[in-house]
Amino acid sequence: MTGTHADALISRRVRRLETLLEERGLVAGGALDEAIDAFLSGASPANGARVTARAWVDADFRARLLADGTTAVAELGLSAGGVQPQRLHVVENTEHTHNVIVCTLCSCYPIRLLGPSPSWYKSEAYRSRVVREPRAVLEEFGLRLPPETEITVWDSTSETRYMVLPRRPDGTDSLTEPELAALVTRNALIGTAAV
Ligand code: FE
Repeated sequence: MTGTHADALISRRVRRLETLLEERGLVAGGALDEAIDAFLSGASPANGARVTARAWVDADFRARLLADGTTAVAELGLSAGGVQPQRLHVVENTEHTHNVIVCTLCSCYPIRLLGPSPSWYKSEAYRSRVVREPRAVLEEFGLRLPPETEITVWDSTSETRYMVLPRRPDGTDSLTEPELAALVTRNALIGTAAV
C-alpha cells in the first residue's frame, strides 16, 4: 500500500468518525477542527531546531536536555505535543553513535517540536525496515555513515516521544544561535539526515 493510498483511507475513516460524533451530539460541529487547530498551532521543526541550537551553545542546557528532555524543552516554552502529557527523550548523535526514531506501531512523533510528520514516517515500509536494516534505510535517505558508527533505533510510544540531537557541524564556531538553528532540518531531528 502506498503512503498516499493509506493516507486517503485514514482520512476517510477520520471523516466518518467526525460525522458520527457530530450526528450523535457528542461534539459540536467545528469543535474538532478547533481542537486540531489548537493542537497544531506552533507545531514546527523550527522548535526542534531552536532546542538543538541552544544545546549546541549551552553545555548546561544540553546536559539537562539529555537527562530530562520534557523539563528542559519547557524552559524554552516547548513540549513534545499531544493531548496527553508525553515524556520527551532526546538522544544525542556523537562521533561514533547515530540515532534514528520510528513508531513501529503507528506514527507517534514529537509533533510540536518537529511539525506534522512526513508521510514516509507513517509508511509501513519505513516502520518495518528501519528497525531491521537501519543502515540501508539511512543510505536511501542519502545518509552514509561510517561502518564503525553504531546506529540505535528508538521506537516511540503514546507516552514517550524521541527527538534526535544532531551533531554540530565543524566550522560553525562563529555562527549565532539563530544561524545555527537555521541549519537544522526536520530529517536531522528524526535521524534520517545529518546537519
Ligand atoms: Fe505511534
